[in-house]
Amino acid sequence: GPAPESADEVIQFLDSHNKKFKLFINGKWTKPSSNEYFETINPCTKEVLAKIPEANEADVNKAVTAAKKALPEWVNIGAHKRARYLYALARQIQKHSRLFAVLESLDNGKPIRETRDVDVPIVARHFYHHAGWAQLKDSELKDYKEVGVIGQIIPWNFPLMMLAWKIAPAIAMGNTVVLKPAEFTPLTALLFAEICQQIGLPNGVINIITGHGKTGATLVDHKEVNKIAFTGSTEVGKIIRRATAGTSKKLSLELGGKSPFIVFEDADLDSVVEGVVDAIWFNQGQVCCAGSRLLVQESIADKLYKKVKARMETLRMGNALDKSIDMGAVVAPIQLKTITDLVKQGIDEGSTLWQPSWSCPKDGYYYPPTLFTDVTPSSTIAQEEIFGPVLVAMSFRSHKEAVKLANNTRYGLACSIWTENINLALDIAPQIKAGTAWINCTNVFDAAAGFGGYRESGFGREGGIEGLYEYLKPKADELLSGEPIK
Ligand code: NAD
Repeated sequence: GPAPESADEVIQFLDSHNKKFKLFINGKWTKPSSNEYFETINPCTKEVLAKIPEANEADVNKAVTAAKKALPEWVNIGAHKRARYLYALARQIQKHSRLFAVLESLDNGKPIRETRDVDVPIVARHFYHHAGWAQLKDSELKDYKEVGVIGQIIPWNFPLMMLAWKIAPAIAMGNTVVLKPAEFTPLTALLFAEICQQIGLPNGVINIITGHGKTGATLVDHKEVNKIAFTGSTEVGKIIRRATAGTSKKLSLELGGKSPFIVFEDADLDSVVEGVVDAIWFNQGQVCCAGSRLLVQESIADKLYKKVKARMETLRMGNALDKSIDMGAVVAPIQLKTITDLVKQGIDEGSTLWQPSWSCPKDGYYYPPTLFTDVTPSSTIAQEEIFGPVLVAMSFRSHKEAVKLANNTRYGLACSIWTENINLALDIAPQIKAGTAWINCTNVFDAAAGFGGYRESGFGREGGIEGLYEYLKPKADELLSGEPIK
């Protein structure tokens, strides 16, 4: 196959920081007060990539103070100048797209084909889209003003993409930001900090602090933070909701999912099979809106399972920088253990496991593509998010039963519907409790479409005009405080 993507540029980037990073506060690389560091690894090789600072309370205070201080100037420079900075960020990301893609693949373990063709282009598009909205802030959204200092906490599955979804709308609407990337995948956020320096973004508009959950919790509790935007597990989302209750903080939560992938008997099965690959084996299944429950009409179930198994045999797994692979490694040993434990539970509960005959590479945290059939709808693997390459299949007879089965979890993030009958698709889609409905496709994202959940998948939207309102408040509240509307 093709030669693996070269990591030379990444090595240069890591070396330029002596493989030991600082925090990005007020536009400057700042030593952590704690003087504590943790390691970030390449999940495909278990190699240490760099040492990352663990920000403590003093560091969080510094970052929030910098964001607060930067706020008046960032608001006052006006919509057009803010837009110019967003366009500059978008262009710099495109210019360094290869470096971003290779760095992301090394830190996360996901195939270079995905970071290169999906993650990084979506990130650039997100900044371009929000640059446009930044320009329109003072005309189209003139009755609204910025929320203030925003605390943002993101997960490890799409590190740069989640950063873009958070930062672009926030700064476009005139807010300033303190962002904490996930502990497993901090590197692209740190490279992004360098890009902020390169374009001359005013100091303090974006601050990047690294650390574990405790750093995130400190940010959530900080009194000068006006809003928290969180993407991550439902469990931590609930903790954050409790921690912000009784404060005036605005909050948006993008949490877990167990999204249905519904196949009706008239669907084009070859397309369905490729859709399944995309739904559950893209990013090793570590996707919040992964189509992790395959719901298939009984009349075609056996035929489809057979086709899916044949396709699973042909999936290629290996080092993330190998351009010919379909699947890389999962992000960390703890994630591998969660997947392994849930799969064991699935077997114990009586479901039938199927995995391809080939074996995984031995040098990293790999888990094979996995299919469960004979699954009871109430069983753990049908209800809990596995967040790995594990597809759980169930069958239905009537359309009514399909809807009932689809809605039978505590989540409501996305759904994917497969049929050649568009009337059927359009009839079923609104009956599914999900923030996004895809028809004959899956995992399609765009900056212009609001993404987010129902039920325990969270609330608030990212993208679209609705995503802007998450970072705005009506100017009317100035009337109440006696301040004149500008
Ligand atoms: P996680 O909740 O463990 O961690 C997410 C982030 O929160 C990390 O940066 C972590 O350090 C931080 N954190 C942990 N404890 C915290 C606390 N008490 N207070 C504040 N911050 C804390 O989730 P994860 O394992 O990193 O990510 C996987 C989860 O994210 C999955 O459940 C997935 O479905 C979800 N996810 C959702 C979306 C979405 O848009 N809905 C997108 C991607 C991932």
